[in-house]
Order: sequence, then structure tokens, then C-alpha cells
Amino acid sequence: MKAFSYERASTVEGAAKAAAQTPNAKFIAGGTNLLDLMKLEIETPSHLIDVNGLGLDTIEKTAEGGIRIGALVRNTDLAADNSVRRDYGLLSRALVAGASGQLRNRATTAGNLLQRTRCPYFYDSNQPCNKRQPGTGCSAIGGVTRQLGVVGVSDACIATHPSDMAVAMRALDAVIETIKPDGAKRAIPIADFHRLPGDTPHIETALDHGELITSVVLPAPIGGKHIYRKTRDRASYAFALVSVAAVIQADGRGKVAVGGVAPKPWRAEAAEDELRKGAHALASALLADARPTQQNDFKISLTERTLSAVLAEARG
Ligand SMILES: Cc1cc2nc3c(=O)[nH]c(=O)nc-3n(C[C@H](O)[C@H](O)[C@H](O)COP(=O)(O)OP(=O)(O)OC[C@H]3O[C@@H](n4cnc5c(N)ncnc54)[C@H](O)[C@@H]3O)c2cc1C
Ligand code: SF4
Repeated sequence: MKAFSYERASTVEGAAKAAAQTPNAKFIAGGTNLLDLMKLEIETPSHLIDVNGLGLDTIEKTAEGGIRIGALVRNTDLAADNSVRRDYGLLSRALVAGASGQLRNRATTAGNLLQRTRCPYFYDSNQPCNKRQPGTGCSAIGGVTRQLGVVGVSDACIATHPSDMAVAMRALDAVIETIKPDGAKRAIPIADFHRLPGDTPHIETALDHGELITSVVLPAPIGGKHIYRKTRDRASYAFALVSVAAVIQADGRGKVAVGGVAPKPWRAEAAEDELRKGAHALASALLADARPTQQNDFKISLTERTLSAVLAEARG
């Protein structure tokens, strides 16, 4: 691991300012992703700003009837919160489908959104990777691609975003609240938060350097049946091959996001018009622009089958 300096931030403004003062400073929350990447020298920040003391660890009601989730709320606490379990059941289910109990006890809301890809070549610093080292090439293209993306991918990168929580938040139209080093605040809809790779796969989100996530807001509950279904290689402690987060109303309409297939939680609102026609129509619309490889084209039919199971569960 490369040497780094460390400070504990005591205010959100101070944390954002401190990050802006060092070009490759990073915030650290639970550390469950960042520390692993630092040990492998895939991330080499020269300065760490510990945000655990900022008090962003509450879940509050908003004036609009939704909830505001502090950036530091641990995944375990968010999944167990009564209002989340009652009104946003798919979020609770997505969280408990991720990682392990020990990891969820440390992992935070902001850290989960910002966790990095699990593409095996990203973790192997002997292999070229445009995301790790811009301009070096993509070892996955032409390599082992079974786990990787089928839609939203580019000629520079076909990695997926690994979060379960973010897929549920995409279906729930979450909004990410931030503060910049100059004190300006932003509210970023989750649809615009994660970027597609294009020619710059190393730029993964809409955040500027030093911009701190303070909270995530969920709109007022919309009722319906909340389902999160994760298809993976083993029953627990594995990332999704395909996951589906859905809120389905009694009339068959709903909101659906898919994980494991794209560089960001994948949702196409227009595709939801196909929901009442069934899983085949919905999957075809959602994955209309898919560019699978020979090794991962099974994710197309797996998406349809996972959607089919979700719709059957919604019908009871
Ligand atoms: C073995 C293993 C299995 C896992 N399985 C799953 C799984 O099945 N599903 C799943 O979804 N996840 C899984 N995870 C990932 C886990 O959920 C993430 O590591 C965790 O959510 C990251 O949160 P953290 O608080 O530890 O982030 P950290 O590691 O502290 O930080 C991650 C990133 O977020 C940035 N950051 C943190 N807080 C802020 C903030 N407030 N504002 C701006 N930037 C910030 C950091 O600078 C860093 O870049 C797994 C992890 C491991 C190690
Ligand atoms: S898919 Fe993306 S993360 Fe994986 S090797 Fe290619 S550029 Fe790197």
C-alpha cells in the first residue's frame, strides 16, 4: 500500500474543502471497498478524509412525505429501518441481498453508490484496463466476459456496476444530495448520477472532485408490490449476474430497474409501457440496444426469466 496522510473531518463543509486542497484526496466511509483497492494499489490516494464523524447517520422524514437517508447510514441499519421495510421494501431486500452481515454493518449508503466495478481485469494490475489506467486498452474485450455488461457498454469498457442497493434506488427515483468545496449544494437524480463509460470509463459519476455526498432522498411512498430478485452463481455472498428491482401496481403498471447488466443501474422508463405485455416484451424493450459477447449473451434470456419470476410474484 502506498503511504498516505489521514484526517478526521468534523463538518461537511470542512470535509469538502479539505478534499479540494489535495488533487488525489479521497473520502473514506466504511472502507470496505476503498481499502481493498488501496491494498492492491489500484487506488492510490495521497490523503484520506475520514467522514465517519460527520453525523450523517440518520433517516428522517422529508416535508414531501419521503425519507432522507444520511450518507453514513450503514447498509444494515437502512435495511432494518421500519419505514424502509414498510414503504420501500425492495430497498430493504436489495440491501440484504448484498455482501455479508459483517460488510453491511460497515458499508455506508454513499460508499455503496460509489463502489467500483468487479471486472476481474480492473483488479489485475498486470492487465491493461481503461478504467484503471486511461488509454491502456480493455483486457475484457476479447477476454473472459461472462460476468460483464451487455448494455450501455462501449468499445472502451464493458464493466458492470456491482451495487444491489443502487438498483433499488433507481427504481425508486432516488435523488443524491451533495455539497461542493465552495459550499454549493446539488440534488442529482440517480438517473444522472452514474455515467456510461463512452471513451472515458474512469469517470464514473457526475460528482466533481471534492464533492461530498450528504444524503439520498426517496420520494413519498408509491405503494404497490415491492420485489428485489437477484440471480447469482451461488445463493449468498456473490454479486448479481442479473438482478431486478420492481414496484408493481395492482393495475400491472410499475417501475423496473435491472442490475448486473450495465455500467449503471439500468432502467428505461419508456420500456415500462411494455410491462403489462409480459416479461418478453419488457426485456426486449429494456435491452433493445444490448451488445452481448458470446460468453455473456445468456444474460439477455436470464433478464427475461428473472423479470418473468418477478411478474409472477407480483401477481401472487
Ligand atoms: C467480499 C465483498 C462482497 C460484496 N458483495 C456485495 C454485493 O453482493 N452487493 C453489493 O451491492 N455490494 C457488495 N459489496 C460491496 C459493498 O457493498 C461496498 O464495499 C460498500 O457498500 C462500500 O461502502 P463503504 O462505506 O465501505 O465505502 P468506502 O470503501 O469507504 O468508499 C467507497 C467509495 O466511496 C467514496 N465515498 C464514501 N463516502 C462518500 C461520501 N459521503 N461522499 C463522497 N464519496 C464518498 C470513497 O471515497 C470511495 O471512493 C461487497 C464487498 C465485498 C468486500
Ligand atoms: S471492462 Fe472496463 S474495467 Fe474491465 S478491463 Fe475493460 S476497461 Fe477495465
